[in-house]
Amino acid sequence: SLTAGVVAVQGDVEEHAAAIERAAAARGREVTVREIRDSGIVPDCDLLAMPGGESTTISRLLHSEGIAPEVREHVAAGKPLLATCAGLIVASSDAGDDRVEELGLLDVTVERNAFGRQKDSFEAPLDVAGLDEPYPAVFIRAPAIDDVASGDAEVLASWDGRPVAVKQGPVVGTAFHPELTPDSRIHGLAFFRNDDADVPAGERAR
Ligand code: GLN
Repeated sequence: SLTAGVVAVQGDVEEHAAAIERAAAARGREVTVREIRDSGIVPDCDLLAMPGGESTTISRLLHSEGIAPEVREHVAAGKPLLATCAGLIVASSDAGDDRVEELGLLDVTVERNAFGRQKDSFEAPLDVAGLDEPYPAVFIRAPAIDDVASGDAEVLASWDGRPVAVKQGPVVGTAFHPELTPDSRIHGLAFFRNDDADVPAGERAR
C-alpha cells in the first residue's frame, strides 16, 4: 500500500486527500493518506501534495516546522509532488514576494493573484498535455507562471496565453485546484504517471 502525504499546515487539505484516494481507487491501488503538520512524516511518504491556501503562511510554517528540507529531499529522491496554487507558489524559484521563502523545486517565476483582474475565481476547460479531454480547472486568486524558458520546467497547460501547469522531473505544479472537482486526472498524472486508468471528466471513480 502507498503512503501519501498532504501538507496540512494550512489550506484545502481534505479535498486533496479525497482526490488522492479517488485517483488510487481508479487504479485499484491502496493508499493511506497522512496529514503533514510536523517534521518526520514526509520521509515515510511515497507521494506528496502541497495544497492551495495562503502561500506566505504555508511557506513560513513549512520552514518553522522543519518540513521544508524534507520536501526537498523527497523530490531529490525522485518521488512525486503535486503542488497546487499556493503550493505552486511555494514550490517555485521566485514568487516576487519577500514573505514567501520558495523551495526552488520548479525553475519558474510566478506572479501571485495574476488572474485577479478578470475575476477572483472562475472555471475553465483546460487542454492539458497528456490528457485526452479538457480538464475542468478551478482557478481561485490563481498565480500565473512566467520565465519557463530559462529553466527545465515543461509547460503542460496554458490559459489566456500564460502557463498554468508545469512539470519538472517528479514535480507537477498547477495554478488551479484539481482537488476541487471530482475529476482526479491531474492527481493521476502527477502520482501515477498517467497510466490508462484515468477517470473520465466528471465521473466519480468506482
Ligand atoms: N492567492 C493565494 C496566494 O498567493 C493563493 C490562492 C490559492 O491557493 N487559492 O497565496
